[in-house]
Amino acid sequence: MARRRQALSAVELPLPQRTRIFTVVNQKGGVGKTTTAVNLAAALAQGGARVLVLDLDPQGNASTALGIDHHADVVSTYDVLIDGESLASAIAVSPQNERLFVVPSTIHLAGADLELAGMERREHRLRMALDAYLSDVRDAPHYVFIDCPPSLGLLTINAFTAATEVLLPIQCEYYALEGVSQLLDTIERIKAHLNPTLDLSTVLLTMFDGRTLLSRQVVDEVRKHFPQETLDAIIPRSVRVSEAPGYGQTVIAYDPNSPGALSYREAAAEIARRGTA
Ligand code: ATP
Ligand code: MG
Repeated sequence: MARRRQALSAVELPLPQRTRIFTVVNQKGGVGKTTTAVNLAAALAQGGARVLVLDLDPQGNASTALGIDHHADVVSTYDVLIDGESLASAIAVSPQNERLFVVPSTIHLAGADLELAGMERREHRLRMALDAYLSDVRDAPHYVFIDCPPSLGLLTINAFTAATEVLLPIQCEYYALEGVSQLLDTIERIKAHLNPTLDLSTVLLTMFDGRTLLSRQVVDEVRKHFPQETLDAIIPRSVRVSEAPGYGQTVIAYDPNSPGALSYREAAAEIARRGTA
């Protein structure tokens, strides 16, 4: 641990030339999407990058973990998607880091899939808002992370259309790869019809328990499936990671030297290096 801490404190994270937009997606629930989005965002911000998190899940867990209010009256991703509000008007700064920005979600988003269904350019609304923001803003974010709900509905499709990269978290559990082929089919369809440059660039193994044979088998299987995409860093199952949101914090802020925080910082460093390689 001391050696890993040392190694991390020595690395300077390279910054990308252009904004990298990650959609964090897996239609399976509870695999670590939100935990991954907020902790990678926090780790990259800590490493010097400007990072924007878009909460596209009505549960608002990403907003909570980043210490951002998301009661019903807050300007949110709902207003951006449905009412055409500007992204800039909905951005809040996380109290955890001055370079960490958030567009929260509210409970209104729970009905947005249905509302979007009848709208014009319904698959493109997030991309249009993000394009407008990025072309206008003075200090554009280096990274955008979009936290998706556990479904492949229109919210997630908006995220796919807006993104440059897909980040797929996979939980080291039974049926880890269940649903992944459906997800890959969906990504192919998105590439064919909506966003030709979308790239499934990153797979991250989450909630690893080194004591179980199962966890190690999942790691092997996922690495076989995604040899290029899977990060070397693996996120361990850790109580500190699950406690942090209860304090309105990422584990990067809550306990920066805990095993979970170190692993997310290592994953963030890998992502930063790969993007400029
Ligand atoms: P949903 O599909 O509901 O949006 P999700 O994929 O976003 O879920 P998370 O909310 O990130 O998943 O994680 C699910 C639960 O597992 C949460 O209670 C979270 O605190 C916990 N958890 C995530 N990662 C870890 C970890 N490395 N160690 C321990 N607990 C974790
Ligand atoms: Mg989530």
